[in-house]
Amino acid sequence: MLIKHRVPITLAALLAAALAVLIDLIFRFSSYRDLLHLLSGVGALKFSGTLTLVFLQLVALLYLLLLLPRLLRPVIVLLSVFVMIVQFSYWLTLNQFITSSDLFLILNVSADNLEGAISSFFKPLILWYTLPYTIILFALIFIPVRSTFRKSLALSLLPALYLLVSNYALFLYAAEGNFHLNPLTSLLRTALHYEFETLREYRGPREALPGLNASQRPLNSIIYIIDESIRGSNLSLNGYPRATTPFLQSIETRGHLKNLGICVAAGTSSYLSNAYLVTGHNEFPDSAFRTFKNPTLFDYAKKMGYETIYIDVDSGYLSKLLEMSREGHVRSLDRWMNDQSFRDRQIDLEITKDLGIARYLSSLLNERGGYFILVNKKGLHFHYRNTYPDDPAFTFWKPVMEPSEPISTDPAGREKLVNTYDNGIRFQVDEFFRELVSKTTHQNYVILYTSDHGQTLAEQGQVYTHLKSDKVIVDVPAFFIFGQQYDQKASLTGICPGIRVSHLNNFATLLDLMDVPMSLRVRSYDKSIFSLTAEDNRERYYISGSLHGSGDYSVKAVPTPAGEGWGISRPAWMDGVKKL
Ligand SMILES: [Zn+2]
Repeated sequence: MLIKHRVPITLAALLAAALAVLIDLIFRFSSYRDLLHLLSGVGALKFSGTLTLVFLQLVALLYLLLLLPRLLRPVIVLLSVFVMIVQFSYWLTLNQFITSSDLFLILNVSADNLEGAISSFFKPLILWYTLPYTIILFALIFIPVRSTFRKSLALSLLPALYLLVSNYALFLYAAEGNFHLNPLTSLLRTALHYEFETLREYRGPREALPGLNASQRPLNSIIYIIDESIRGSNLSLNGYPRATTPFLQSIETRGHLKNLGICVAAGTSSYLSNAYLVTGHNEFPDSAFRTFKNPTLFDYAKKMGYETIYIDVDSGYLSKLLEMSREGHVRSLDRWMNDQSFRDRQIDLEITKDLGIARYLSSLLNERGGYFILVNKKGLHFHYRNTYPDDPAFTFWKPVMEPSEPISTDPAGREKLVNTYDNGIRFQVDEFFRELVSKTTHQNYVILYTSDHGQTLAEQGQVYTHLKSDKVIVDVPAFFIFGQQYDQKASLTGICPGIRVSHLNNFATLLDLMDVPMSLRVRSYDKSIFSLTAEDNRERYYISGSLHGSGDYSVKAVPTPAGEGWGISRPAWMDGVKKL
């Protein structure tokens, strides 16, 4: 009886899958041709094995669809069409379907950042690519299958088991990014990959620091500001030809800012960079889960007697760990401030948030010394038009993009993109520091500033802003700002000229600022900025993709010298101008 039912459905599923794959091959021929180039790298056997597994996954999925009652099938078909629209938007923008690291980011970034990403991705061409799959899926709704519920359940066991086992095999041996075949099964692979990865995660407490405690609260305060999506070479402080940071330059002239030039970010997404910045881990990828095991900056600060505060208005890496509240994920934290905490304290952060943060920081500094404060700023996540007030006084460069306009890469589109971004820098970076520095009266403080990652600004026609492995995405700023009475000023003025810094240098730098003795440092961190010399200038590495190295990730380096064009940004009007 079972066999009698199985034959026609299997045949229908097989035919539909073959047809879907064939039409997709015609529609996206160049993408399939690119896959053939992978053949040499991956090996013919592994390559064709993977293709066969993926094809059979589609057959299994369609078979499962056919087991459903005809009334239920349209619901699943509509859901599948939605999945395909999302997948093809992704593919057209980033040349890949959603990977498990992307899924992780989607589940972990704040809703407004996500909305920005989605609206920047959508294109009408997507509907065209989705069409063949849609027609085939709709045709399957009408195939009659008379089967009882129990029989259907029995028949579904084998294909479901196949999907699970084949996906586990692919998780172990074939990264999804190499085989972006078939949008439907791809999402399933990605979802299961994400689950497999989560199961493997380290769940224990972080390692402890040796038992010594500072006897008193330090007099100075240390602020570590990690901004969002700020490209270092778009600051006039770093030679950008537009006055995006006049205030920062003025305090540099007055000797209160020590610029470290263009820094290389540890990763191309907020999550990656923050994981490395907060834990001082220095190997790519983090296959040993050191970013979950290492003590954090808060642990060291607390040991040294600082009062520890974490301010996050970007729903970042640490906030996610705090929300998971797994034991020991984030210890040694006296105060955690997020959007809700500001509302609870009736502090109005206003729409762009950062100026409100600046005022709050200066109120803390003026209150007393001895704070260690880590800030994840709101910064300049796309859409940029929402990052400065809708006021001619803050619109220095025109024309600008509309608040929800997608990125367009033609010359006029790029001009608007860069103008809007530069206006954002002037407000979210320069005005932020003007507010913070000028309102702070208690002068015994130091600020270390960087950004999680930079932005592409569509220079090579990219419609994505970050996440991919482009070198330009790790171009971020790095500088110190310090008060007149900062008690460790000498270490800042003693920084060796000509050094090249990376995010990985920041951890030990902060330990030096906190005066953490070597005997207390439990890991071997990358050199502090204070110990770097020009002789340390070599490759500066960074990662994109999966933090723990399962599935898709790539590790690249910015060499010294950095190569033509890296660390330099030019306003769109200079695109046609010959480089001097
Ligand atoms: Zn970010």
